[in-house]
Amino acid sequence: MQHEPVVDAERPSSDQVVDLMMSVLSDTFDHPELWAMVPDLLESYPDLARVLQGRLQNCDPRSRLNLNLLLAIVVATQGGARQMAEALLPAVADCSQSPLVQGVLFHIQRMLDPDNPKYQLAGKVCRAPFEQLDILDSSAHLCCASWLLPTIGNVATRDWQQVWNSVDAQAIRSSMHDGSYRFCNKGACPYIQGNHLPAAEQLRNESEFWRQVVDDRLTVVERGPQSVNLAYDRTCNLACPSCRVQPFAADERMRARFDGMQERAILPMLKHAKVVFITGSGDPFASKNFRSLIEQLTPEEYPELRFQVMTNGMLFTPRQWESFPSLHGRVKYLRISIDAAEGATHEKLRRGARWPVMLENMAFAGDLARQGLVDSFELAFTVQVDNYREMGDAVDLAREVGANSVHF
Ligand code: SF4
Repeated sequence: MQHEPVVDAERPSSDQVVDLMMSVLSDTFDHPELWAMVPDLLESYPDLARVLQGRLQNCDPRSRLNLNLLLAIVVATQGGARQMAEALLPAVADCSQSPLVQGVLFHIQRMLDPDNPKYQLAGKVCRAPFEQLDILDSSAHLCCASWLLPTIGNVATRDWQQVWNSVDAQAIRSSMHDGSYRFCNKGACPYIQGNHLPAAEQLRNESEFWRQVVDDRLTVVERGPQSVNLAYDRTCNLACPSCRVQPFAADERMRARFDGMQERAILPMLKHAKVVFITGSGDPFASKNFRSLIEQLTPEEYPELRFQVMTNGMLFTPRQWESFPSLHGRVKYLRISIDAAEGATHEKLRRGARWPVMLENMAFAGDLARQGLVDSFELAFTVQVDNYREMGDAVDLAREVGANSVHF
């Protein structure tokens, strides 16, 4: 007597499971909770790798990447982690900004090094999304946008308070509490890679604010950002190849737009902040908007505010310094980008700069640090093929000009 095969009508097929996983990945963010389910899924669906390979034979280009990522996780879970970590490298290089691609590699690397604490994100809470706001031209971010790409809104078109606690901002904070860090670029973030994220338990003992953040799993932060990074104006007197292909200066229309945003959003927001960073987007002293903003941030109006100033240094002369009394004694750090220890390299990599002027201006910055008029003077050095041999000499140069450190 022949029996009909038993078909469980309730149980999705392997193809349907793949469809479900693909729909989860369509948001392009990391999904550690899904990766954690794969060992159990494989118990019920041991043919998942074969089904994924079949799909890859005949898929549209948009689905190919995500199918490959799922296949990598499945094969890694079945014991092929080392092989998959290598196979993923081209995709990781092509999609260096993708939280999903970087997250898949992170998960597979964790399989290879399970006791390494940097891979244990659950139970740690990053401070940045609860206290930092980076303002770019047309978008705002709760961290450096190279590490945390999703925007939370635009303070040029919405109230800054709404942006600070927007639905997207809350989703990002929530990902700190659930340990997924799904929006963060896990390959690029130095806090994740360097295992520098604080344990929630340690954080909650720091202050009443952090106790509430941890215990109540806060996603809405009533107080404004404590640290504001202004990076909307790309105006600069130099055109360094590591940053841009040609010189850029904001035109009248753009400047009027920045003026409006400064009046309506930035100046009121900074009343609540402790630190303002000006700027990683251009040069603070070349930008009319940043110059006017710095002038308005007086100690009388902003008694608690301190500055982090980043400049290419060409305009950082004694005369300029005198014209900005609002900076005097209020600079937490002054960072001058040099990218070299020799004049020829400097002038090649900092297009438009002149080394003799830089040496004078760096020596002046060193004097300010010695007199205590800036807390810390640092050199910044973007390491690249043309300058890595000068890294050691840059440290010597820092000592000569009185800098406290070099930021490579
Ligand atoms: S974990 Fe890294 S990328 Fe994510 S918010 Fe913190 S510092 Fe930014």
